[in-house]
Amino acid sequence: MIIVSNNVYKKIMREYEETRFRNEKALVNRINNIHKAIPMIETIDENIRQLGIKMVLETIQKGSVPKEMEMEIEELELAKTSLLISNDFPSDYLEMEYECYKCNDTGYLDNSSKCSCLKQKLAREYYKMSNIEKVLEEQNFRTFNLDVFSDEPHEDEELSPRENMIEILKESKEFVINFDKDDTFNLLFYGSTGLGKTFMCNCIAKELLDRGYTVVYQTAYNILNILEKYKFRKDESHIAKERYDYIFEADLLIIDDLGTELSNSFTNAEIFNIVNSRSISGKKTIISTNLSISEISGTYTDRVFSRVLDKFIPLYFYGNDLRWE
Ligand SMILES: [Zn+2]
Repeated sequence: MIIVSNNVYKKIMREYEETRFRNEKALVNRINNIHKAIPMIETIDENIRQLGIKMVLETIQKGSVPKEMEMEIEELELAKTSLLISNDFPSDYLEMEYECYKCNDTGYLDNSSKCSCLKQKLAREYYKMSNIEKVLEEQNFRTFNLDVFSDEPHEDEELSPRENMIEILKESKEFVINFDKDDTFNLLFYGSTGLGKTFMCNCIAKELLDRGYTVVYQTAYNILNILEKYKFRKDESHIAKERYDYIFEADLLIIDDLGTELSNSFTNAEIFNIVNSRSISGKKTIISTNLSISEISGTYTDRVFSRVLDKFIPLYFYGNDLRWE
């Protein structure tokens, strides 16, 4: 089971902070060295500092900065650079260094979306934390083998299990490709066990984890457990709250094994609440269940719930048990 903790995120943010702090200290050291080596630059820096204070005052008093001041600072900066060069220092010697110049080691771009360096760090941490690395090494889109599905017609179905699986595969890949789009649907995998539902969930989980998304993959039973522990304060630990939050906040939630045995008005309302609040905040959910569509609509009769289910693309897994789950 994948459960990715918020701690991972906090840890990475701390690392960014440390990187920035380290580089700021290094910059201060370089400035001090330069001030000793080229005292003229220290004088210029002092002038820039005083001009800076004046500029702030002007902005407060008059609402704008006089052009001359800006030009004066520019000239002083130029003088500094030429002093650096004539003393054999690189021209950017007094500029802040970053490991990632796209986000200046903040993890976020100007439009507040995640920088690629953050996505990579997240993906690496998720793998380290979750014991699913091995499973996902074996069960992913590259290892998915269509040949295990029969070409013979199955009962009254129009498509052979193999043709059907080609369609499911296509939908699943599109789900990944369009993951960030708001108007795409959730997925509902249904059909009896041993037909590749879990395998397909793993394919999607790996693909999204690799792209730096957060994924929570839990059985319906575990999810209800997490909710119960948190809501009825059976477990007041920090982890209990974190797990609870993550069910709502993860980029993708995979609810595995949704079944009738769990169904009562409390659990139905809970599952509905999760899927609904996730979908309101634009987050995707995949539900995998052994129930048939009629069993689902029989169990979850609530009108509101059926409206939620309208947001799912139902994908029916059928054929002979492959015994690989
Ligand atoms: Zn970056």
